[in-house]
Amino acid sequence: MNISIIIPCYNEEEVLHLTLERLLALSVDLVSNKDSDELEFVMVDDGSQDRTAEFLTEASKTDKRIKVVRFSRNFGHQAALLAGYEFATGDVIVSLDADLQDPPELIKTMLEKIKEGNDVVYAARQSRENDSWFKHKTAVFFYWLMKKLGADIIPNHADFRMVTRRALNAFLQFHENNLFIRATFPIVGFPSFVVYYDRPDRAAGKTKYPFWKMFEFAVDGMTSFSVVPLRICSMVGLLVSLLALLMLSWSLIVKIFGGAIPGWTSTVAPLYLLGGVQLLFLGIIGEYIGKIYTEVKHRPRYIVQETLNFVEEDVTD
Ligand code: UDP
Ligand code: MG
Repeated sequence: MNISIIIPCYNEEEVLHLTLERLLALSVDLVSNKDSDELEFVMVDDGSQDRTAEFLTEASKTDKRIKVVRFSRNFGHQAALLAGYEFATGDVIVSLDADLQDPPELIKTMLEKIKEGNDVVYAARQSRENDSWFKHKTAVFFYWLMKKLGADIIPNHADFRMVTRRALNAFLQFHENNLFIRATFPIVGFPSFVVYYDRPDRAAGKTKYPFWKMFEFAVDGMTSFSVVPLRICSMVGLLVSLLALLMLSWSLIVKIFGGAIPGWTSTVAPLYLLGGVQLLFLGIIGEYIGKIYTEVKHRPRYIVQETLNFVEEDVTD
């Protein structure tokens, strides 16, 4: 069985040497235990501006199993993961973050679950103790909301997962531009299993997901995988129209029976309320139109500038 380990890297110069050290140690273990025949490391450099590219080039010279895909610019974590999946050649493919927050040693446990007949093994965090209060609360809210919106998402699972070739091939038939890979694999189906682990802090360097990027990612995830927000708009629209009809009949009755006193509150309150609701809903509808717009343009999801150590012709600068 050949294993591909795919790692998206964006400005990870501080941590990559540690990550590769841990992975190479693990690979010795995997091969000597006959867990794996061959390994490859697909390192995707997502347009890093630091010395990540140089580091990976050097590493690829010393070990031919270290393969590099370099993007022409930063395309984002999900695009980098996708490239890893597309370039991987193994029978079993595992994705993990570059910062050692996904402990490579868990790969052995995941592999056992694959051998037991699962096609997708999700690694999910046991607890969120080392998250800030804010990140913890927002994450809990996000997973709760996603479930309510009908997206089948594994709580506390990010992108640390192992998949078989057949699950990956099925996944690669999804051609959407708005990528939210963690919610796509549950749609792919096949037998799956969730393993739990304690997620340590980043080994070195800083997060590449500041608050706004995280927020954007969460909204993208919701609107890519659920049309429930649109349905809520129509339901509230219907309800408000019914109320308006009642108001209309009430005002007509008052008019007919001669008790009409010009009401300020009853005019102004619905005006503000409805104005707000309409703007909000226009915004939600706009989100979806934006999604359709990016999908129909059908742009490439990433652009490769260079590849190293792939058997077929490598793309070089
Ligand atoms: N990453 C990437 N492109 C980006 C942002 C992040 O490839 O535009 C990679 C990053 O190098 C890391 C993984 O995605 O391997 C997760 O990022 P990070 O650890 O910063 O996120 P956090 O764990 O803080 O949510
Ligand atoms: Mg991280």
